[in-house]
Amino acid sequence: RAKAEGKNRFCFYSDALQAGATRREILNRDLQRALDRREFHLHYQPQIALSDGRVSAVEALLRWEHPQLGRVGPDEFVPLAERNGMILPIGVWVLRTALAQLAQWRAALAPGLRLAVNIAPEQLADSHFPHALLDALQRHGLPPDAVELEIVERALLQEHRNSELMTLKAYGLRLAIDDFGTGYSSLGYLKRFAIDAIKIDRSFVAGLPHDTHDAALTRSILAMARELDITVIAEGVETRAQRDFLQAHGCGFAQGFHFCRPLDADGLERWYRGGARAGAPA
Ligand code: C2E
Ligand code: MG
Ligand code: MG
Ligand code: MG
Repeated sequence: RAKAEGKNRFCFYSDALQAGATRREILNRDLQRALDRREFHLHYQPQIALSDGRVSAVEALLRWEHPQLGRVGPDEFVPLAERNGMILPIGVWVLRTALAQLAQWRAALAPGLRLAVNIAPEQLADSHFPHALLDALQRHGLPPDAVELEIVERALLQEHRNSELMTLKAYGLRLAIDDFGTGYSSLGYLKRFAIDAIKIDRSFVAGLPHDTHDAALTRSILAMARELDITVIAEGVETRAQRDFLQAHGCGFAQGFHFCRPLDADGLERWYRGGARAGAPA
């Protein structure tokens, strides 16, 4: 029966495709009900202190299991959700789910653990967002500096988004610039928002240690961050050689398949109990 159903569903989708509905239109439509149908879940990927290997934080990464199309990646559906407005309720779900998980881990697994969470520019423009975030922190008894908001440079370009960010910063939440160096922006925002951390984009990490351009960029970012007293997290670290280069040039933290792939909550917990250590980052 399940097989027949699967086949019908497949027919339905291929009919929809034949009728001219693009995959994008289908995803756009189905995003509206994915939350109610509980099709989202979170994976978590650890961030590692290079000095001693402890886990400083975990980044929550959103996953969508579409009933017919299977796993759809956030790089594909988050931009659609940003455009059709669904990123607002989805973003609140991500915050609530991830903060509940963090509270549980801090109580039972790793007291100093932090959560890094991706925040879309549209969420920053929503005046309800700071309230939803502070509410979730309070409900779980979490200190504001247990959470690091990852935002991309373009989120800082529009003035009307800045006041929410300033409010959250004043409450003690940490701010990180994601995919640092790939957006266009003046560096003035590093000071204006008292940015705590920058994440070196994995497109720069990929060429380490041999690509001279990537190596020069990485060294420059690390030197600048050191001067400004900003923490650096390298993303997409896949090899020992990349890790060694980053450590040798003073990068504090790293994240990537070399250490651990994003895992569901149970998987992350098993991995952690298998030998990782956690504590508040320096
Ligand atoms: P991001 O925040 O820059 O996340 C890093 C991406 O790199 C993740 O992809 C992660 O799985 C992947 N990654 C981690 N380590 C490695 C590695 O060693 N090698 C390679 N090749 N990739 C690695 P993912 O999970 O597909 O997420 C893609 C993007 O989707 C994220 O980029 C973020 O911009 C967005 N995203 C994910 N979850 C959320 C969310 O809850 N809310 C919002 N607004 N955006 C999200
Ligand atoms: Mg991120
Ligand atoms: Mg990134
Ligand atoms: Mg990215």
